[in-house]
Amino acid sequence: MDQNFDNNSFRDFEYIPKMDAWGRARLFQAYLNDQSAKGQLNYRLLTSSGCGPEIGMNGRSVISLVSNDYLGFTQHPAVKQAAIAGIQKYGSGAGASPAIGGHCDYHQTLENKIAAFFRKEHAIIYTTGYTSNSASLQSILTKEDLVILDAGVHTSVMEGCQLYNKKTVKHNDLSAYEHTLKMSAGKHPLVLVIIDGVYSQDGDLAPLNEIIALCRKYGAKLMVDDAHGTGVIGRTGRGLIEACDAWEGVDLITGTFSKTFAHVGGYVVAGEEMVNYLKYQSKQHLFSASSTPAAMAIIKAIELIDEEPLWMSVLKDNCKYFRHGLLSLGLDIGDTRSAIFPVRVGDKIKNARICYALLEKGVYANQINYPAVSLKDARIRMGITARHNRAHLDQVLNVWADIKKEFDL
Ligand code: PMP
Repeated sequence: MDQNFDNNSFRDFEYIPKMDAWGRARLFQAYLNDQSAKGQLNYRLLTSSGCGPEIGMNGRSVISLVSNDYLGFTQHPAVKQAAIAGIQKYGSGAGASPAIGGHCDYHQTLENKIAAFFRKEHAIIYTTGYTSNSASLQSILTKEDLVILDAGVHTSVMEGCQLYNKKTVKHNDLSAYEHTLKMSAGKHPLVLVIIDGVYSQDGDLAPLNEIIALCRKYGAKLMVDDAHGTGVIGRTGRGLIEACDAWEGVDLITGTFSKTFAHVGGYVVAGEEMVNYLKYQSKQHLFSASSTPAAMAIIKAIELIDEEPLWMSVLKDNCKYFRHGLLSLGLDIGDTRSAIFPVRVGDKIKNARICYALLEKGVYANQINYPAVSLKDARIRMGITARHNRAHLDQVLNVWADIKKEFDL
């Protein structure tokens, strides 16, 4: 490997023929040092305050566009109070996995609440959103099945499908979906299509009703991960399924408690038999300690979506304003319809430099590069929340006006 690492990505260090993990770690360290010295690495930046429109970094305050705390509930007094009350009542940890002593009444309430939120009766909770995908899929799929994935789904889904027959279709390409479904119909005990509601890198939406129609036509089941749609779209924040009124067409709804729900954890909402199956078959649920009593914060956050709809409408206004601002500057933001705003840059090195330049000007946004997106799709990704105000958004737009000139976008 060349010692100018500009053409490398994290993926190149996953496997190097005949090199063990310590050798790879040494080489990877050289890559990190090189990229950091060139100002092209901005991961794991140290911040000194919680989620919010502004955060502390290196003794100064910057505008934060990096959190998925879409409604700002991590700082809501009632949500904080619920976490504190949970700890006061139950202590700091659950002490066991759900099957053998770690299933407390607050876990049951959370399962009931999240199921009801999605207009169903049954749900299983996991300690991360990641495992709600990766772990459930490992129990659902067998070697005889086929999974059809949209190219934009999250890594947690990819990981859950790693050991199984899978076909990845071009993002949101309905003819590719139909072709793949047609070719596989009747050939597997289960054909499972997996999509996101809102895609995490582009912020665009799945053509849900059309995909449901295709699944029905070819006898496939459908799983929808709406981690980024929940609390953001749909009249009452139930995400894309609500926006499309598609409750009957989705077999498995997955998502996370780490974004709108202001804590950590995840869920699968499904029919009673499937949920019970997962409760006893999904190893990361069965053999791993249950969520802590601070998860009572999530119960309050779920309630607040209905009790305080104001936050969703502020978020919608913010997104509309920001979208209009970025488009007026002539920036390429793709087809986003959510609170995720990508600015497509294309070149990885330029992307990294823009990310640093933004930070210098007081705006913290993420650079997204391969392998999270394809090589040519490097972009800056920003997340808007209900807690940003017009002054924050204007400041970011002014900075982008400068960046556009400076980097000839
Ligand atoms: N699904 C999607 C679409 C995501 O973007 C993420 C993480 N950002 C996850 C699942 C995993 O959720 P968590 O971070 O709560 O583990």
